[in-house]
Amino acid sequence: MKDKIISYRDMCDNEGIQTLQRGMNFRLNANYSVILMSQRKNAPYNDIICDDGLSIEYEGHDVAKTEDFKNPKKFDQPRVTKSGNLTQNGLFAKAVEDFKNSKRDPELVRVYEKLFNGVWSEKGFFKLIDYRYTKDNNNRNVFIFKLAESNIEIENNRLIDDKLRPRSRIIPSDIKKQVWIRDKGRCVICGATDELHFDHDLPYSKGGSSITIDNVRILCVRHNLEKSDKIQ
Ligand SMILES: [Zn+2]
Repeated sequence: MKDKIISYRDMCDNEGIQTLQRGMNFRLNANYSVILMSQRKNAPYNDIICDDGLSIEYEGHDVAKTEDFKNPKKFDQPRVTKSGNLTQNGLFAKAVEDFKNSKRDPELVRVYEKLFNGVWSEKGFFKLIDYRYTKDNNNRNVFIFKLAESNIEIENNRLIDDKLRPRSRIIPSDIKKQVWIRDKGRCVICGATDELHFDHDLPYSKGGSSITIDNVRILCVRHNLEKSDKIQ
């Protein structure tokens, strides 16, 4: 479920693997890719939730730090490795090119966001629709991938295209962090500390106003479901 609050362990369990080592994981399984993003101040990359609240710009990743590349931020982000294989950047970029050339549907990407150490939020499934290769502040070239929200949900490890699901705006990270602190990491109704979600008081699809900390709260899954019963 979107905006679910999870631990690092939950995230790895979701993906059925021991550890998620990398931020970019092209085709982590047969059906979709996984990216980990962060908008924390000291985050290594510049990931942005766009103003429309429905899309994300995700920065590609640097060359690995080695003897030859002591400061990876000084080098263009690579599309291929020394041996000529596509890097993760290259794999994602090629998926965009193939999509634009009508060779395939957009790659499906599951997005997780790090809010604090040990506190992650599942942002749901996005479509990888575009990228650019462009200069950053250090005057070197980086990949910027554009992801648009999709209607895909996952249930019991099966992907479902829920075309009827209304699009909902992404709750900005900064709001989530403030709400997490204000609500002390608990359901505001019953105080539960597990199975938590960020809940937008009045869904955007029902005319909910812009997202502020006043209309976002933490609910456990039980109270979240009770609430959606009432709205529908
Ligand atoms: Zn509750």
